[in-house]
This record gives sequence, C-alpha cells and structure tokens, in this order.
Amino acid sequence: MKTTILGHPRIGSHRELKKACEAFWKGQINKEELLETASYLKTQNWNQQKQLGIDLIPSNDFSLYDQILDTCLTVGCIPKRYNCISKQNDLELYFAMARGLQNENIDVTAMGMTKWFDTNYHYIVPEFEKNQTFEFFSKKIIKEYQEALVSGIKTKPVLVGPVTFLLLGKEKETGFHRLDLLNKLLPVYLEIIKELTALGVEYIQFDEPCLALNLNKKEQEAITTTYQTINKQFPDLKIFLANYFDCYGDNLETALQLPVDTLHLDLVRCRLQLEDVLESKYFNEKTKLSLGLVDGRNIWKNDFESSLKIIEKAATRIHLDNLWISSSCSLLHCPYDLDLEINLQKDIKQWLAFTKQKLEEINTLRNLYLPENDAYLSLYEENKSANLNRKTSKLIHDSAVKDRVSNLKDSDSDRKHPFSFRQTKQKSTLNLPLYPTTTIGSFPQTKEVRSWRLKYKKGLLSQENYDFLIAKEIEDSIRFQEEIGLDVVVHGEFERNDMVEYFGEKLNGFAFSDFGWVQSYGSRCVKPPILFGDVSRNQPMTIQWSEYAQSLTKKPLKGMLTGPVTILQWSFVRNDQPRETTCNQIALAIRDEVVDLEKHGLKIIQIDEPAIREGLPLRKENWNEYLNWAVRAFKISASGVKDETQIHTHMCYSDFNDIISSIADMDADVITIETSRSEMELLDAFVNYKYPNKIGPGVYDIHSPRVPSLEEIENLLLKATKVLPKEHIWVNPDCGLKTRDWPETKKALQNIVKAAKNLRAQEVQLA
Ligand code: GLN
Ligand code: ZN
Repeated sequence: MKTTILGHPRIGSHRELKKACEAFWKGQINKEELLETASYLKTQNWNQQKQLGIDLIPSNDFSLYDQILDTCLTVGCIPKRYNCISKQNDLELYFAMARGLQNENIDVTAMGMTKWFDTNYHYIVPEFEKNQTFEFFSKKIIKEYQEALVSGIKTKPVLVGPVTFLLLGKEKETGFHRLDLLNKLLPVYLEIIKELTALGVEYIQFDEPCLALNLNKKEQEAITTTYQTINKQFPDLKIFLANYFDCYGDNLETALQLPVDTLHLDLVRCRLQLEDVLESKYFNEKTKLSLGLVDGRNIWKNDFESSLKIIEKAATRIHLDNLWISSSCSLLHCPYDLDLEINLQKDIKQWLAFTKQKLEEINTLRNLYLPENDAYLSLYEENKSANLNRKTSKLIHDSAVKDRVSNLKDSDSDRKHPFSFRQTKQKSTLNLPLYPTTTIGSFPQTKEVRSWRLKYKKGLLSQENYDFLIAKEIEDSIRFQEEIGLDVVVHGEFERNDMVEYFGEKLNGFAFSDFGWVQSYGSRCVKPPILFGDVSRNQPMTIQWSEYAQSLTKKPLKGMLTGPVTILQWSFVRNDQPRETTCNQIALAIRDEVVDLEKHGLKIIQIDEPAIREGLPLRKENWNEYLNWAVRAFKISASGVKDETQIHTHMCYSDFNDIISSIADMDADVITIETSRSEMELLDAFVNYKYPNKIGPGVYDIHSPRVPSLEEIENLLLKATKVLPKEHIWVNPDCGLKTRDWPETKKALQNIVKAAKNLRAQEVQLA
C-alpha cells in the first residue's frame, strides 16, 4: 500500500506567490525573482510531502496563475489576439492571457474565467477555433519534473486530460464542436508523454474530472479513444486516471474498461462508489485503485475508524500492493498548515486538519492498516477521541437551534400572500415611480475605509472613533444618493470586509483562521469562515447602521443581508450533518434579522444569493434535491415579514437558464441580476420563462472601471422594455460597487438615474 496526493496548494503558507505575482505585475520585482519564489515554494512542497511519507508526489500541479491556463500554453492553444506579443516573452504572454495587457503598443483583453466544477476556484476558459491547431509549446511540465529530480524526487507529473480540457473550453466560432479537435490534440499529448517517458517518468496523472458529469456517448467514447491510444503507444507508462468531486456514475463502465494502471476514486464525496466498482463485472483485479479518503475540499480531521473500514473493504478484493491511499481531490482547495493558527480556540482546532495535517493523515492511515506499525496506534486513539469530542461538544450542539429547525412548518417558508397581492400593498406603501432606480448595496471601499477597519481590528482605533468615521461615510453616501435622485437608497456596506465573513463574525457557530487562505483565482485568495457548529443569532447584525441610515433620509432605505445559501457555500461547512440542515439553521438566523429590520422601520430588505448557482450538484439527477432545499432555505429567511415589506434578492452569475424555475420559486418581490456585459442576452431566460416578479437587469458592468454613457444605458433599458412588462423593470448596476472608485461610480450612477428619468418622460409623452 502506497500513498499519494492529487495536488498540493501552491500559493504558499503566507501567500508568498500572491505577493510575488502582484509585485511582478507592478514592476517591483523582475522575472528571475518571481521564478525564484515559485521554485522555492515548489521545492518546499515536494520536500514536505517526502518528509511526511507521501510515496508518489505530484509535479506540474504548481501554477503561477491557473492549471488550465498552463495547459493552454502546454498544448499551444493560444488565441490569435495574443499574436501581438512575442512568444519569446513567455511571462508577458502568460499574464496577458490571464489578465489582459494594456500599454502604449498593446491592448488585448484577458481570456474568460469561470468556476472550476462546484468549487469557488476559477479557471481560465480555453478558446477554440474551427481550424484550431495545437503544438507542444510550453515545456513547463518537463522542467518541473527535472526540477524535482534535483531534490531527488521522482514525481508523478499531472496533466489535465485532453477530454476535460476540451470540454471545459468554448468554441469561439460556429460550425464545429470542440470535441472534434481531439484528433488534433491527442498527438500533442503523445509528444508530451514521449518526452516525459524519455526522462524516466513512470506515472502520469491525467485529471479527467469531466467523468463526474453526465457525459453523452460521444464524450465517453472520446475518453476511451484517448486512453487506448496512449496505452497503445506507451504500454509501459502507468496511467493514473483521476476523477473527483463526484462519483463516476454512468461513466463507471467506461472508466473500468480503460487500459489504465490506477483509477482514482473520490470516496469523500462518494463513499459508496467503492462497492459499485468492486461489484462491477468490468472490474479488473489488476487495476490499482487510489482511495481518495482524505478530504481535499474541507478542513475536518479524517475519521480514521471509518476510513480504515473502507480500506478493509477494498483489501478484500485487491492486493495491498495495488492500493493507494490519497486525497479525495487536489489539496488546492485546503489551507496550508493548521500549526500556524495560534489564535484558534483549542477545542475547535483539535477537530481540524489543513494540508500539512492531511499529508500526515494519509501516511498514518496507511501505517495503521499495515500490522507492523503499532507505533501509530496512539495517533489512532487521538483521532478517535477528537472526533468523539466533536460529536458531543457543547460548542457545536445547541438543542434550541436543532429543535427550531426540526419544528419548521411548511408555512414558515411562504410569504403570507402571493406576489400579485403583495405587489399592490407594496405599491401603496412605497410609492415608487416607474423604472425605480437603486444599487446592489456596497459603495466604494476606499483605502481609508479599509484602513479604519484594520486599525479598529488591531485595537488602534476605538469603537467610538471607528463608528464616527463609518457614520460619516454613510451620511455622505446617503446625501450623494439623494442628490443624484436614486429612488431606493442603501447604507453602502462600509462596515463590512466581506459579505460572508461579516455575518459569520456575528453569528454563533463560526470560527475564523488567521492563515486559512485558499486560491480563488490567480493571485486572489479567500479565507472562508469555518462553520463548525449550530448557527444562531444572539445579537442584531445590521440594525444599527441600517436604522441610522434610514433616519437620515425620507427615501426608502434597502436593508442588506447575505442569504443562507451563499453563507453556506462560501464557508468551510461542518460535515457531521446534511448541508440542508446547516442551511436551514442559517436561514432562521437571517430570518430573525429580516424581521428585526422590518420592526425597525425598513420597508425594503435585500437578501443576496450570488452563490446559489455554484452549489448546484455536478450531476443533473441531483439537481432537484439541492434546489428544493436551497430555495426553501431562502424562503425561510425571507418569509417572516408583512406583505407590505418588499424582499429583494441579487445574483451575479451568468447562466440562469438551467435553474430559472427555481429562481422564480424563491418568490423574491424583486431580483437584480448581471446582464450588461452580455447586452441583456442573459435576460432571455427570464423572458422565455415569463418570470412573474419584478426584475432589475444590470445596466452597468461594475467589473470594469469604464463609465457607461447615457446612451448605452438607455439602449440597454430599451431592450429590456421590449421584452418585459414595464411595471416589472428596476434600473440598477450589475453588482455591488465596492471594488470601484468614487469618481467613476458617481458618473455611472448619474447616467443610470438620468436614463431612467428619460424613459419615464417618454412614457408620459406616449400616454
Ligand atoms: N450586496 C453585495 C454588494 O453590493 C452583493 C455582492 C455580490 O453580489 N457578490 O457588495
Ligand atoms: Zn453581485
């Protein structure tokens, strides 16, 4: 029995890579210095794995930005618009593809970016043309293998498999399907393999997580062709095929018949699939299995007792020499090292494992299974007692919260009356004009605002002084909104660092790490809250500032909350109860806040759910179950108020088509969505579905510093009026403005208000 992992985090325990990349982009360090940091991090990762007992260590899992972008360069899939950059200048080309490039001579946009399966990691989307050609262009994979050899480590290079690579990309013109490019792409993979094997590479890990999706026949055949071709040319190469994030499902028969050395199973997501594998008539006892037992997506300690049972089951059919103990997926999605967390409460810390601890767990599991290793028994006892403690800890378990969730009634997730009835009531209380204007919640988080919060957290600014500064900022923003004539105003979210962390810090059941960073995209890292226990609200979270802001103006102020699904989705969530239960607990806590806001005089409350789409399971057969509980949780949070109180929600992802009926089921009175970048195309789903409630299609792309002209906004609105009933239309930006600067924000919002006014005036003329 041997140990391996599918990949290691690469940002560095203190985000060294982030800092180096950003310094390089600013011209503060040169290429050599950046590569030196990269090399230091890789070597450190490799050595640590070796020391902690990992037998087969991956390479090429490192990336300066993203592994799919790396693959694009490896196979020479470089969109033509980058031809203006010399291919000699590899880093300039690489980062131009990742982030766009603008200087005196060059102006190219970045490639698109989207979420990596159901994670919060974003990859660069490959672009394909009909006459796409490929070549073995970047030799990164070769260099990294050689680099590890210098440290005396013979690695398993990791390559994104050709089928996943093609499926994750986009056709940039019509008239072909990207999978048709396989016959041109495969020869390049063969070339890569040839060079690697010539260097003595024994194993190559091919990541084909597309096997966790519903594949059609053609896609399954592409998998078969690929690995048969590779095996035929390189019969001695040991192919380590990795699928993760879900089971093989109906791709299992295809997978089991592949001529691969090892098949990896994500047994954290899909524990039962081991039985499916062992019982399948296609199961070949010579195929090695990689048992993905240690969770690469979450931070809880492994349950050794339960993992050993799985190993035992596998061992009934498979010789121990043919078993790997591994991580469920790449550890990319885990923070580095729990030992760095000196401020975490000890009781909570004992339940956790970050990457370094997970490496130890993998090694310990192997050693526990092998009889001659009694020395590891104390680790087993320690693990058992920590997990037992977690089952009963008072920090986690709150019977009042559990009772409240189990006593939820159907009526708790429904507003008192249907939308049509509420609409009339809201109309008379709110008295808003046609095409009401508003924003999504946050206003620019300037350097000053961020510095106050930092000082306040460090104790360098008193509560009183901090509150004074925030109050002043809120007042200025209210005056500004009144001045330009927005109909529904917001307080601006100046007191919030992050829309999930802010609420997590105020709710029971959450803990926070100091160094628990994970890569979100490129140099951007996030530090998800640790949702360890039963969630409840024992103090108001937003009343103070919302009430204050409302007191400054006669206009309706929109209260601003983060929804239960988004809080769940962007945290490290406890794994000792169903996500649905945890989500309902959060929903009840948010509901308390919603009701409280209403009690304090707010007539409009927005509950943001930008993450509802990314929680969608990978396989369609599981969608309904998720959507049912996710929609219900939102409705629980929103349904404690009177008919007169208007509930808004906001979502900022792009593809609404798949789940539009569930979005309608959420029954928010108003939804604001992202649409401006696609010229309102994204509105189609709502139009085709005849979305029943009100909707604010974004008319200002807040991801760009560009100010949209009055005319552009008017055109977008005109498009919306052609397809939606005019009484249903709200006018607003795409998303919150916290990443923007004030000058452009002011100009853009002025144009938005003006455009809405012009449109109203036209209506009057027509009437
Ligand atoms: N209310 C939040 C804001 O304006 C919404 C952010 C989001 O959709 N991600 O910042
Ligand atoms: Zn948004």
